[in-house]
Amino acid sequence: MDEKVNIVFLGPPGAGKGTQAAGISRRFAICHISTGNLFRQAVEAQTPLGRQVKAYMEAGALVPDELVIQLVKDHIQSKRCKRGFLLDGFPRTVSQAQGLEAILRQQGDCLRWVIYFDIQEEDLVQRLLHRRVCSNVSCQQTYNLRTFPPQQEGKCDRCHSPLIRRKDDNRESISTRFRDFEKKTQPLLDYYRKKGILVQIPANRPAKEVEERIVRLLENDNF
Ligand SMILES: [Zn+2]
Repeated sequence: MDEKVNIVFLGPPGAGKGTQAAGISRRFAICHISTGNLFRQAVEAQTPLGRQVKAYMEAGALVPDELVIQLVKDHIQSKRCKRGFLLDGFPRTVSQAQGLEAILRQQGDCLRWVIYFDIQEEDLVQRLLHRRVCSNVSCQQTYNLRTFPPQQEGKCDRCHSPLIRRKDDNRESISTRFRDFEKKTQPLLDYYRKKGILVQIPANRPAKEVEERIVRLLENDNF
């Protein structure tokens, strides 16, 4: 594959984006950019941008679009991303999507696909109620008692620390998060649908099956 694989993962928290992002970025040798990591790395590296991000985070304020876009831009243009990138958690708004497009256009590049992890509210609730997270903060591997159970009950496969359930993984917060996400994301979905690059994937299928669909899409470039 000569052309770059530039893709975006969209979907509510808990739809399995993180798990798929790890596997897909490895398989296609593209860089995985999640905004959470982006902020953390910038803050740790103490770059001028990082210091600005830190100030916003400490004030409990949203990091402004221009700043996020600048961070994403620095990453996309780095060597690690020379074969393409997988964005996860960005863009969140149409204005961020336009910012991304402007960056890519400058370098004669474009987005290949925007993959939406489509899931019904009740399915997401069921899924998250079965989610367990490794209690070791430097590991944080996530499991699902139904679809991705640990090999040994209650223990992390990687580091053997006990698995816990997140406090906000209860029915009420899950539903609130989901509705909030749907409302905010609709304009973005419409935006990408009009551009003809939106692909919806049923996210409630087993992880293996979801992965195969994404791989097929990226390898054959059709759906
Ligand atoms: Zn662990």
